[in-house]
Amino acid sequence: MLPRPARFRQVPPLIRLVSRASTPGRTLIPQCQTYSTETSAERPLKIAIIGSGPSGFYTASRILNSIPADSPNGQNVQVHMYERLPTPYGLVRYGVAPDHPEVKNCQHKFDELSSDARFKFFGNVLISSQPSSSQTISTPSSALSPYTYPHSVRISFDEVLPYYSTLILTYGASLSNPLSSVPGSSSSSKPLGNVIPALGLVSWYNSHPAFCGLPVNLRGVEEVSVVGQGNVALDVARILLKPIDQLSKTDLSEEVLQTLSESSVRKVRVVGRRGPGQVAFTTKEFREMLSIPDLEYRGVSGELMQQAKDLVGNERMKKRLLGLMEKSVKNDSGRKSFALEFLRSPKAFLPSTGGGIDTGAVGEVEWNVNQLLSSSPTTTPSPTPPDSQVQAVPTGNTVMARPTGETVTRRADMVIESVGYRSEPLTGEEGGWNLPFDEKRGRVKNVDGRVVDEEGVVVPGIYAAGWAARGPVGVIASTMHDAYALSDLLMDDHYATKASQSQSQTTAGPLNPTPENGVPEALVKAQKNGGIVVDLEGWAKIDQAERDRARIMGKGKEREKFRKVEDMLAVLG
Ligand SMILES: Cc1cc2nc3c(=O)[nH]c(=O)nc-3n(C[C@H](O)[C@H](O)[C@H](O)COP(=O)(O)OP(=O)(O)OC[C@H]3O[C@@H](n4cnc5c(N)ncnc54)[C@H](O)[C@@H]3O)c2cc1C
Repeated sequence: MLPRPARFRQVPPLIRLVSRASTPGRTLIPQCQTYSTETSAERPLKIAIIGSGPSGFYTASRILNSIPADSPNGQNVQVHMYERLPTPYGLVRYGVAPDHPEVKNCQHKFDELSSDARFKFFGNVLISSQPSSSQTISTPSSALSPYTYPHSVRISFDEVLPYYSTLILTYGASLSNPLSSVPGSSSSSKPLGNVIPALGLVSWYNSHPAFCGLPVNLRGVEEVSVVGQGNVALDVARILLKPIDQLSKTDLSEEVLQTLSESSVRKVRVVGRRGPGQVAFTTKEFREMLSIPDLEYRGVSGELMQQAKDLVGNERMKKRLLGLMEKSVKNDSGRKSFALEFLRSPKAFLPSTGGGIDTGAVGEVEWNVNQLLSSSPTTTPSPTPPDSQVQAVPTGNTVMARPTGETVTRRADMVIESVGYRSEPLTGEEGGWNLPFDEKRGRVKNVDGRVVDEEGVVVPGIYAAGWAARGPVGVIASTMHDAYALSDLLMDDHYATKASQSQSQTTAGPLNPTPENGVPEALVKAQKNGGIVVDLEGWAKIDQAERDRARIMGKGKEREKFRKVEDMLAVLG
């Protein structure tokens, strides 16, 4: 049990709620200029959480554990979690690599929630800024997968908000950062075949329903370039290079295993715009890469490595990683190889001129050759957009890459764009509910998790956590810390006295001091009209059905994932 800070037990006299609109025509929350006279013990904490990834379930767990059901406030707390897929866990199910099953153990935290009667899961429910009657359907994924969650029950924020005192946005980052300025990229006006954002490939191999139809064909694909040098880039390289028998017992679906078994991939280059000292992947992931059997890696040596060592100085972790990157790994067959390449930014993805790959597919990459510039912290230039790969880009520690004007061209039968994720802006029609969104950073506008409007004013009772709040940085452990910190802050805000609120400009009261009872009317109506909402029992059935499928196959897999929402819903009867 997590300790409850004493300050939550204070009893506030009055809380005044203020609804703030950011810009004309944009209503942030429904009008609720209300005065509340209840004590904190009576004030309901009724929370809607949007998204069931780690930030969602760690937030729910922290709050419910902090206010036990048998404590004075316990019966005034309810948590409703909405998820647009029938399945919970977010990127734990659809992002984390299939050969990292130990990372997925955090799902137990979610399972613990199911024993608390105050927690409810509403799967297959997409919360949108568009009115549910609207014909305008936003395309949450991308041009690559114009999937609109056709089987989900859609309800709007306007229909949800009156039912809750508190809204927590934990809907992650489900779009790719574009490389639109690079001709031939997946986000350019003329995308080439086999140029795929990492998000697409990862979601495809993890059986995300929005990407299960992605046309991935690895026959004839011999050389792959991955743009970007983070852990996701290494995940992709590893899945493409690992022997199929090392993947066959993971939760990769049979369809994906079939495609991987037909692969001709023999070389993967993981390419970064800066030097070895600026890679974003971790030692653990890199070590794992080197342990793939029968894989050649030629190391990084010479001037580039010396420069990297000089730049990282005495940073212990970086030094250890550089030490590993320096060593080469030989193998006798030499059939497959992995290379790290540095000081390259993609200038253009060029079409294949034949050689067995489909017409219209990528065949080469023209790379800008960069040089590293080290500047003093005071002269760090302002950040450039994510697709400005060809410009001077500041690094975290004032090391920048700048094009020299020289270019090189290398073969690539497939390109994976691994340059980060961003959240969807949730904006509605004129007059509807618009989520304050930071376009530049690609995340919900917030200060320490409190959502703020365009002027930086706190929107009462609305919070964000995880990747939707911080952007696509951090692993599950840091997402958990973030969710815990947000939960504590939220409870502070909710149970704070008026006196303590007035001491701080940044704290805010609830969204609604007396939220409507039960679940949103629109949800009930949608179910009456045939919409399927997946509760915890429904999820347990889907989970069991996936395990049964694997058992029947008899291949020793834990589960055979459903790749389509219709197949998931079919098991509910
Ligand atoms: C490819 C990849 C591999 C990774 N591997 C690891 C690893 O090995 N180890 C590790 O510690 N971390 C790993 N991470 C990081 C980890 O997955 C994240 O830190 C974590 O998942 C972020 O959690 P989140 O809850 O913020 O977002 P998410 O996990 O993305 O969850 C968001 C949820 O919100 C739902 N949603 C979105 N929009 C709506 C809506 N409008 N209505 C209802 N629901 C909605 C989504 O369907 C999703 O279920 C990896 C990340 C990626 C991308």
